[in-house]
Amino acid sequence: MAFESLTDKFSAIFKKIRGQSRLTEKNMDDMLKEVRIALLEADVNFKVVKEFTENIKQKAIGEQVYLKLNPSQMVVKIVHDELESLLGSGESEIKYQRNKPTVIMLVGLQGSGKTTSAGKLGYLMKNKLNKKVLFAACDVYRPAAIDQLSQIANQLNIDIYQKGTNYNPVDIAKEAKNKAFNEHYDVLIVDTAGRLQIDEPLMEELNKMQSSIEPDEILLLVDAMSGQDAINVAKTFNQKLKLSGIIMSKLDGDARGGAALSIKHLTGIPIKFSGIGEKLTDLDIFHPDRMADRILGMGDVMSLVEKVQTEIDEKEARKAASKMMNGSFTLVDMLEQLKQVKKLGSLGGLMKMIPGMPNISEEQQQAAEREMKTFEAIMNSMTEEEKLHPEILKNSRKVRIAKGCGKTNADINRMLKKFEQSKEMMKRLQQYKKSGRIPPGMNGLSGF
Ligand code: GDP
Repeated sequence: MAFESLTDKFSAIFKKIRGQSRLTEKNMDDMLKEVRIALLEADVNFKVVKEFTENIKQKAIGEQVYLKLNPSQMVVKIVHDELESLLGSGESEIKYQRNKPTVIMLVGLQGSGKTTSAGKLGYLMKNKLNKKVLFAACDVYRPAAIDQLSQIANQLNIDIYQKGTNYNPVDIAKEAKNKAFNEHYDVLIVDTAGRLQIDEPLMEELNKMQSSIEPDEILLLVDAMSGQDAINVAKTFNQKLKLSGIIMSKLDGDARGGAALSIKHLTGIPIKFSGIGEKLTDLDIFHPDRMADRILGMGDVMSLVEKVQTEIDEKEARKAASKMMNGSFTLVDMLEQLKQVKKLGSLGGLMKMIPGMPNISEEQQQAAEREMKTFEAIMNSMTEEEKLHPEILKNSRKVRIAKGCGKTNADINRMLKKFEQSKEMMKRLQQYKKSGRIPPGMNGLSGF
């Protein structure tokens, strides 16, 4: 995940500050020096770093934290707020038109993620916001781009306007807009051509397209891995096209994060979405405050809650919850739960969003995920009766199941133990339910 090393450094810096009983000008300066180094190492633009640390110092003095006895929280808050404002303070949402199609033009260098993001936006707008979406395939120079977009359109059941590669892209965009208007689409997403580097003919073409279709949004794809170069790309595109926002792609990679931290401040263009993987569901609305939380290692509860709400089948979740609460929770329910958790993407990504979890090592995360897969395999080899009444699992049955799924008796016993523990936890939770308090150790994922 991007920002990982920055998060580690911030944790270390704050730990040191927490160890101080008082903040003095000296230890404040020492801290700011470390913050400065951490940001520069994360490839944040040096001008941004300078302003950032100066602002923190100003605010800290303004708040008179030096006089306070335990000011570390205050410092963390100031750094958090400053980070949030660097990232853009407040969400920058797409403004949808009411009685006509909202036209969104996606621009950016080749490979930055335009076509994939067209698909991700299509998914978000169609499946989550219930909008009627049309794609326009205007990257006529890379035949694969049109195929790629057609496949995505097919997969999502979204209409696409395409004219192959021997057609003027500005005309395709114009005709697609007419279609969107006449056939009452809510959104038109225009995938445009990219180049390895900015070149004049491409800019001219995009410029003409802009004048012709007058998009409501021009979103620039910025690859988070491209570091500071991204700033110059954004500035040039913005001069020519007046961008309305940025989609920061590949934030799931190991980018140091400098581009994401600097770009809003240096260009004035807000980040509206972040790409966090290659799948069509891997697009998040960008929330500066939550990103600041995550960078500072505070987890990202809100994103988690949102993800859970949209990805988990609500009915299933409610059913499982009520079974847990009334004690009739079975292995079948546990398997169902595993499937739901899997829907949320990798467990690793999930853990990152839970406060207090960022320190779980990659190895531990992988072990947990492996365990889930093992349990699922075992349960797939069990009969319905065995799943409902695991107490009948004597040795001969275990040997049969182990053979069937390629696991061992020990794996089966471990799963049964985990199941017993989950049930035990549910019982305790029930006892505590009336008191309104959650018993210690139960506020994480139940047993996994
Ligand atoms: P385009 O040339 O701008 O249309 O770029 P594409 O949409 O074809 O994307 C280029 C590559 O980046 C593809 O392999 C995508 O799967 C990948 N990609 C796009 N967005 C993301 C993202 O957010 N995370 C990751 N890991 N890969 C991405």
